[in-house]
Amino acid sequence: MKFADLATYFEKIEAVSSRLTITSLLAELFQKLTPLELEKTVYLLQGRVVPAFQAIEFGMAEKTVVKAIVSALNMEKAYFDREARKMGDLGKTVEFFKKQFLSFEAKDLTILETYEALYKAATAHGDKSQEFKINILSLLIRQLDPLSARYLVRIPQTLMRLGFSDMTVLDAYSWMLTGDKSLRPAIEAAYHVRPDLGYIGRILKEKGVKEMANIQPHIFTPIIMMRAERLSSGEEIIAQIGTCAVEPKYDGFRLQIHYDKKSGVVKLYSRSLEDVSLMYPDVIEGIKKQMSADEVILEGEAIGFDPATGSFLPFQDTVQRKRKYDIAEKALEIPLKLFCFELLYADGKNYVHTPFIERRKCLEEIIHTTKDISKDTVLIAPHEIISEGVKIELNFEDAIARGLEGIIAKKLDGIYQPGARGWNWIKFKRSYSSKIEDTIDCVVMGYDAGKGKRTDFGIGAFLVGIYDKTKEKYVTIAKIGTGLTDIEWREIFAKSQKLKVKSKPSVYEVEKGMECDVWLDPYLVVEIKADEITKSPIHTAHLALRFPRLQRFRDDKKAEDATTLSEMESMFTGQGKTK
Ligand code: AMP
Repeated sequence: MKFADLATYFEKIEAVSSRLTITSLLAELFQKLTPLELEKTVYLLQGRVVPAFQAIEFGMAEKTVVKAIVSALNMEKAYFDREARKMGDLGKTVEFFKKQFLSFEAKDLTILETYEALYKAATAHGDKSQEFKINILSLLIRQLDPLSARYLVRIPQTLMRLGFSDMTVLDAYSWMLTGDKSLRPAIEAAYHVRPDLGYIGRILKEKGVKEMANIQPHIFTPIIMMRAERLSSGEEIIAQIGTCAVEPKYDGFRLQIHYDKKSGVVKLYSRSLEDVSLMYPDVIEGIKKQMSADEVILEGEAIGFDPATGSFLPFQDTVQRKRKYDIAEKALEIPLKLFCFELLYADGKNYVHTPFIERRKCLEEIIHTTKDISKDTVLIAPHEIISEGVKIELNFEDAIARGLEGIIAKKLDGIYQPGARGWNWIKFKRSYSSKIEDTIDCVVMGYDAGKGKRTDFGIGAFLVGIYDKTKEKYVTIAKIGTGLTDIEWREIFAKSQKLKVKSKPSVYEVEKGMECDVWLDPYLVVEIKADEITKSPIHTAHLALRFPRLQRFRDDKKAEDATTLSEMESMFTGQGKTK
């Protein structure tokens, strides 16, 4: 297919907001593509050339894109800038000017030709790479038609934002094959194991939906992580899963580790599947030293450790290791310990469906530890097999006394459930002062400009919401205007700036009285603590938080990982039960 034809689809998709219409447009597009075209188009639809978990970014700031544009159009930069400011959109400005000039280099490029050129630009590095990227983009602008140019320049700025999620693409795959959503569960299960949308699409086209059952974990493609359900007493846990393995719940950050001994490459992925390998060189060294398998995917929680006192550090300290600069210095100051708790794949064997207790046995076999915490970076999360509620309570009290967050109970024959919050893992945390046991992960949907003292911060209150899975919408639960430090107000304002959108996103359901001055794309996740959940007529969740306050920013979580409405409803019915 020609890129120009793809651009007409971009335009149609951009013009509609109904999820159903987008799905059917995508399905129609996908039907017309070859397997390879489909794979690459899906990346382009997301404004990328590789799946999101691969850290290949275009690295072109708006300024650089403008350089490519003015060079392609042979225009004076000041004039172009003036017009672009008026139109408020680089893509449309390029399109406008392209319509006025006839290019001698016009070429009806295919999707694959355009993709190849963009791929080269994205993967260029070194001294002259910026110049190289500008030249490639500039040539493409000269070659492509006006509408194609509009979308082309949005790709390197990661401004595609066509308003749909990975889930819509999965629906569209099902539509492509059957004209309805019926295949989505089978496709989604495969996607959880191998969340590379392009790859999944290509295999569907090449081999059909039957092949989805054969999708295996793939080294250096992170598996979507399993999550835990929550309960608030030992007795409830035993009633739910019977005799179980009880592990401490470390309050650090989760890592999924992929290691290939032959090439010596270790990659670390965060909960939101971001490649964070560069941040934790000490963990990488530990894995190389202590791992006996040749090829492995495992998971653990990394937590800061104070060698002087032999104790674990609180989350606020551990989180300082999440940084892009001064990595080596901080690693010396705050060394990490990685407590491994899951084995998902080793030497050609997929462990995802193996019962927990067997997975755990294999995990112990492939990691060499001296069992001396001061010597090893990689350790195995200790566990105790317990069959009585009171014993779980004792274990829990002990974890709290040691400064840990609580415990996680694991069903002995439970499988690993990629992408699911399942009962095979149950977390039990305690909050001393509040009736709600757990915190709530909310998406920041918008904010109001500051009044009084807060005019300095540019933000006076922000609206937060949770995810209603049934409606596939974000619903509101609180507008928060107090309880943040000056630093936190400044931080939330700064983090919001990139996310501003002109109007309320169509996935937001907001009552009139809760409208915001500024709307944000669903991206920023904050952990909110509150005293109580109450019924509410003014919030679209029909529930609201009493005395909400910011606990911390959850940059490691994606908007889709926010607490769901049904979870909040069960917290509401369960509140007060905690001790
Ligand atoms: P959730 O993410 O809501 O499912 O809460 C469970 C989180 O606890 C995981 O994502 C891990 O980051 C963390 N965690 C800490 N210790 C453990 C453990 N022993 N087993 C599993 N998860 C753990």
